[in-house]
Amino acid sequence: MEYALVTGGSRGIGRAVAERLAADGMPVVINYKSNAAAAEETKQAIEATGGRCELLPFDTADPKAIEAAVEQWQAQHPDDYIAVLVNNAGIRQDNILVFMTDEQWHSVLDTTLNGFFYLTRRLVKEMMTHRKGHIVNVVSLSGLKGMPGQTNYSAAKAAVIGATKALAQEVAPRKVTVNAVAPGFIATDMTKDLDEKQLKELIPMRRFGKPEEVAELVAFLASPKASYITGQVVSINGGMY
Ligand code: NAP
Repeated sequence: MEYALVTGGSRGIGRAVAERLAADGMPVVINYKSNAAAAEETKQAIEATGGRCELLPFDTADPKAIEAAVEQWQAQHPDDYIAVLVNNAGIRQDNILVFMTDEQWHSVLDTTLNGFFYLTRRLVKEMMTHRKGHIVNVVSLSGLKGMPGQTNYSAAKAAVIGATKALAQEVAPRKVTVNAVAPGFIATDMTKDLDEKQLKELIPMRRFGKPEEVAELVAFLASPKASYITGQVVSINGGMY
């Protein structure tokens, strides 16, 4: 059976993606780091609507934890594989560069960029063997244009954009697609400390996006309907560039 794995699927955009993929009939594996209550709530919401959902906590910044979790999942699922991987887990640790600590720099790159590398390397092999798979990386407008106060976050997201384009060409002959979605401001826990009233004036649509709107795009890119789209970065930002 084909499963979807959504990293950072317990809250925000990842939760909406997990719910949307489950509504399409895919069994979904939700990864999260530490918020077990939120993950359990998401699982119950999916099951309440007839979907199938499993939880697989691990820290995307920890390669050993990734290896152990994937090994455990595969041992429990000898006849199944992850056909859809949504690399969504991410954090912000904003600071201007002159004051940025090593910890702020490395935690953001480890979670986003190194997490992408270790998990994707582990799972893409099986997609290639099955000659079927979709990888969707959740990046950001920050990774396209750069945002002051976010050199770490912008660098991590820009690096994942480069990796998306390179990997897409490596695995295209095996019918595996690799794309990225680049949201602008989306209303989640990650943006709740921002001044929405002031920031929405910068957005042509004059509002923050909703996680469900991003989930629609991710679900499309993770479906056979998008079978000839690969190596692309699709923005979803209300017209903000
Ligand atoms: P969020 O509401 O803060 O949720 C973050 C999710 O990532 C949670 O499920 C969290 O798990 C998980 N997570 C964080 N660090 C992790 C780690 N080391 N290992 C595993 N899981 C981890 O964030 P969001 O707004 O939905 O953002 C989701 C993605 O979209 C991120 O990559 C973010 O950079 C990107 N994005 C967001 C916006 C926006 O405006 N919100 C804009 C552009 C891009 P726990 O519940 O266990 O903490």
